[in-house]
Parts: sequence; C-alpha cells; structure tokens
Amino acid sequence: MRKIHDLYFKPYLSAKEIESAVDNLAYQLNRDLKDQTPVFLGILNGSYIVLADLTRKFKGDCEVAFLRTRSYLGTESTGEIRLDMELDVNLTNRVVVIVEDIVDTGLTVDALSRKLKDHNPAALHIATLFLKPEVYNRELKIDYVGQNLENKFVVGYGMDYNNLGRNLPELYVQTKPMKNIVLFGPPGAGKGTQAERLKEKYGLIHISTGDVFRYNIKNATDLGTLAKSYMDKGNLVPDEVTIKMLKAEVEKTPDTAGFIFDGFPRTDAQAKALDELLESKDTEVSGMVALEVDDEVLVERLLERGKSSGRPDDANEQVIRGRIHVYYKQTAPLKNYYQAQDKYYGVDGEGSIDEITDRLSAEFDKL
Ligand code: AMP
Repeated sequence: MRKIHDLYFKPYLSAKEIESAVDNLAYQLNRDLKDQTPVFLGILNGSYIVLADLTRKFKGDCEVAFLRTRSYLGTESTGEIRLDMELDVNLTNRVVVIVEDIVDTGLTVDALSRKLKDHNPAALHIATLFLKPEVYNRELKIDYVGQNLENKFVVGYGMDYNNLGRNLPELYVQTKPMKNIVLFGPPGAGKGTQAERLKEKYGLIHISTGDVFRYNIKNATDLGTLAKSYMDKGNLVPDEVTIKMLKAEVEKTPDTAGFIFDGFPRTDAQAKALDELLESKDTEVSGMVALEVDDEVLVERLLERGKSSGRPDDANEQVIRGRIHVYYKQTAPLKNYYQAQDKYYGVDGEGSIDEITDRLSAEFDKL
C-alpha cells in the first residue's frame, strides 16, 4: 500500500511484468520498422520512461523526439489539442511512431495523429505500452500495444497522479484505504469468535497473536517453547518476541484490504510498534473496537471454554483471574492511548453472538 497525495495505491504490475510488455512492444516494432529509421515521438510527460526503455530495445536506427500536448478548450468530442512544444524534427516523408505510455479513451492520441498528418509523414503509427480496450472509443487504429489493461487508475512507470508517482518502477492501482482494526477486550470477551465472522464480512486478515503462539507450541518451534513458559502461567510473552512475530504475520499479506488485530497490542510498547509498522506502510490503525464484558461473565465463559478448548490457561480459575488481572494492569490502559487519538469505540460484549456481531459491524462500517 502506498499513499500518493490523498489516494491509496496497491501494487498492480511488477517491474518484470512491465518489462515483458515493453519487450512485446519492441518485438513488434523491430519486426515491422527495423529498417525504416523511424522517428519515435514520445508524448510528455508520461512516456519518458517507456520511450527510454523501448528505444534501447530497438535494433535499427531511429530518431527520438518529444512533444507535449495540452487539451484545447474545445468540447471533448471534437478533441482539439494544442502542441505545447515546438516539434524539433521534420516529419515529412518519415516513418513516425507516436509512443504513448497508456491510451484510455484515445482522445489525445486521436487528435494528435490528425494534427501530425498535416506534416505529411510517409507513415504514422501509434504505439502504446498499455491500452484500456474497455474505454477506448476512437476509430483510429492503435497499431502496436504492449499489453491491455483493465479500466483502472494506475500510476508508476512514467504515469502520475497529480504529478507524483512517475518514478515508481512498478505499476500501482488505486485502492481503498486499509481498514486496520484493533479488536480489544479482556480474555473471554469473544474477540476470536467475532473476528472469525468479521474477517469474512469485511474481507480482512485476522491476526490473533494467541493463535499464532498456540500454533507454534503445537509444532514445537523455538518460539512455541518460549511462549509456552509464559502462556501457561497466564503471563504476557515479552514484547520483543511478540512484536517480531506480529510484524512477520503482517508481512505475509501485503495486499490485504486490512487487518483485524486480535490480542495485539497488549502493552504500550506493542501499540507504538504497531503504529510504526503501519506508518511504514503508509497506513494506520483505523480504530480500536472494544468488547466490554463484566469480569464475572468472563470467568464463567473461560471456565466453560476450558472444558473443551484444551487450553491450559483456561483450565483453572486462578490462572483465568490472573489473566484478567494482567489485562487490567498492562492492557486496559491502551484504551487511553487510542481514546486520546479519538479512535476508541466501546461495544457492549454481552448478549447473543449475533447481537454482538451486529454491534461490532455498526462500528466497523464507520471505520
Ligand atoms: P489469547 O489467545 O489472546 O487469549 O492469548 C493467550 C496468551 O498468549 C496470553 O495470555 C499471552 O500469554 C500470549 N499472548 C497473546 N498475545 C500476546 C501479546 N500481544 N503480547 C504478549 N503475550 C501475548
């Protein structure tokens, strides 16, 4: 995820995939024009990168020139354009190839090609690295296309959003801002149960640090062995270990629409680490949604769960009360951390599972 001005973008085509499209375009131009000393005419600013890459793959002689165009104040349908730069090459009797980075409706390239015909070239071809066939609506034939694209707003590889983004070696596509929600509440509040439902509903990735630790314990990893010594007693696993693990989990799905963090952060240091991690990805915590449940209800629920969950930390009332105590001491103060940023949303966590999902959804919808 990458933020440019006010919009969010996610990776769309890798540098390698773009290179294949350039190769494809270069192949066609070499096949047809290698011996014709064409003039490649790049349209600024977008086509500066494709022209640089494309001409280095052209095997014959060629000339390179640039033009900048500006839409005329005429109506869209007439598509008048003005050349914004002087054309410093004589096109008469030359084989001319207009090189575009991307063609969508085709308004500019159509108007430009009509204008250039006045210069009496021997031939005038249109080449574009990318074409959006769904929106292209001109009679003019696009002679050479590197690759077709869906009708999406892209930046990178010469293409910009409000002048930024041209330097990106990959292509990015506009996307919605991420929803990163900290699902909060004491042990037994129902975070895991609700997260499973909400992740489906909102298309988010659910990261439960407790589940990841338990997975590691089951598979007898070093991390599992270390975590178990803390978990069985109802204590927190040290921040350093937990934060490192959380980061690794987040890195597994860089293209997600967002995350539900369940059981993380549990300390001040973890909350700060999460902020830094998300900031490095040009995103942030959208909100903390907290399930508020009475302590006695928690103890009851956890004892009940302990009968079937097989979790040693659910098996005994003393450990359960210890976990709730740890929660109030180390974790509950995080409410203030998010409240200070106007990001705390409390929800009544008692009632039926469906009722609670509805209440949480009402908050998720706002974030
Ligand atoms: P949970 O499944 O969220 O109830 O977590 C079970 C246990 O895993 C906790 O009691 C801690 O020992 C450990 N744990 C889970 N998440 C964290 C965290 N963010 N920081 C430290 N320890 C954690």
